[in-house]
Amino acid sequence: MSGAARSLPVVHSAPVDHAAAAAAFNANEARVDWHDAALWFVREKRDRAVEEVPEWELLRELASNIKEHTLSRLDEYLVAFESAATANGAIVHWARDAEEHNRIVHDILVSRKVRHLVKSKSMLTEECGLNAYLEERGVDVVDTDLGERIVQLRREHPSHIVMPAIHLTKEEIGETFAEHLGTPAGLSDPTELTAAARVHLREKFLAAHAALTGVNFALADTGGIIVCTNEGNADLGMALAPIHIASMGIEKVIPGANELAVFLRMLARSATGQRLTVYTSHVHRPREGQELHIVIVDNGRSEQLGRKDFWRSLKCIRCAACINSCPVYRRSGGYSYGATVSGPIGSVLTPGIDLHKYAALPFASTLCGSCTAVCPVKIDLDAQLYRWRQIVVDAGLVSVTKQLVARAGGRVLASRRLVAVGSMLFRSMLRAFPARLLRRLAGAWGRDRELPVPPRESFSAWYRRERGDGHDVA
Ligand code: SF4
Repeated sequence: MSGAARSLPVVHSAPVDHAAAAAAFNANEARVDWHDAALWFVREKRDRAVEEVPEWELLRELASNIKEHTLSRLDEYLVAFESAATANGAIVHWARDAEEHNRIVHDILVSRKVRHLVKSKSMLTEECGLNAYLEERGVDVVDTDLGERIVQLRREHPSHIVMPAIHLTKEEIGETFAEHLGTPAGLSDPTELTAAARVHLREKFLAAHAALTGVNFALADTGGIIVCTNEGNADLGMALAPIHIASMGIEKVIPGANELAVFLRMLARSATGQRLTVYTSHVHRPREGQELHIVIVDNGRSEQLGRKDFWRSLKCIRCAACINSCPVYRRSGGYSYGATVSGPIGSVLTPGIDLHKYAALPFASTLCGSCTAVCPVKIDLDAQLYRWRQIVVDAGLVSVTKQLVARAGGRVLASRRLVAVGSMLFRSMLRAFPARLLRRLAGAWGRDRELPVPPRESFSAWYRRERGDGHDVA
């Protein structure tokens, strides 16, 4: 067994069956089609936003180098950040894991008799299961990001790290609001639904005694934190509540404001194709009469940092570009990953948390490399997914059938002759099949889709006939 596999934590929980969950998602063909189209729309928007920046590749290189530099001196930068933030008047807490993070937040709330907490989007608190922890202890927690509030009302989790309710139709959201917010039955107009959510959330903001936000970046030199949102919900929470708690993973720290400029140019463009998030809030100290708590959380990150094949995954700025680009994610939905962070980056991060549970996820990829190509911090996602596959196989967590099929596939693909024979057999089989049967088989992929007509000759034969230079491209 490899060093990386030996250092994995031994946790035994029910394995995620990605294929079965994806099949369930695929049962609703219309949903798969618009889910795929909606995410591809965002991906194309990202492409257009990136094309506006001629120095994009230089920025990627810089962003990657800054993150690698900071991660390699994380201890120094975190201590510098703590000392600057403390000097600014913030109270800094350290949490080894999710349990400790939740306990710290709860202790702050209990000691100040807080019963109502508003939260802006924080995937870290999702990862820690904070909502359930606090609700069990009598704290009313309201997620104030619109997408997060929708899934919270439905007792669901975000299916996407940037667009938490992307898996729902406006009609489904209308039903949810009718049930929980009292909007008229059948209302599905997005503007009217948003207006209803705004009224509902205003009341929650005004009633809250504390606000919790995530942290997109933390500046080691000044002790400041940066919170990026499109809805201004983090700002309203921070501005109104007498207590502000900011939860951040240890990997969020960067050296300072010069480096921040690089990431701010990339984050929104990569995430949604915007030039900048609508709100980019810099918090350096509590306002007068307010308490500012910053909880710095490890929860398995330092273990990941110690894995030579995977430490670069901590460069992630959670833009979700890799997720929107992934053909498997777009057609299998976020819940099929059974994890807080889904898609290619989730499939790289989660096996390190629980190899047994998430063994299927590195295989939920075509290894096409689209994720790696769009990642603003140049994480080699496809290479890391491939490495996890090797570790999963070494750990004996792949079924015998899958291993046999993979081995047979490997033999065939390693031999030009077998590939040629296989493709010849496949073409003859297609020609021999009655057209009606082929159309029925095509229905398995989509009733309205036409099966392409089988080619009359192979590409190799066409190439030789047209170009005549004897290249064997079969
Ligand atoms: S891995 Fe890269 S592309 Fe994916 S969410 Fe993280 S930063 Fe964005």
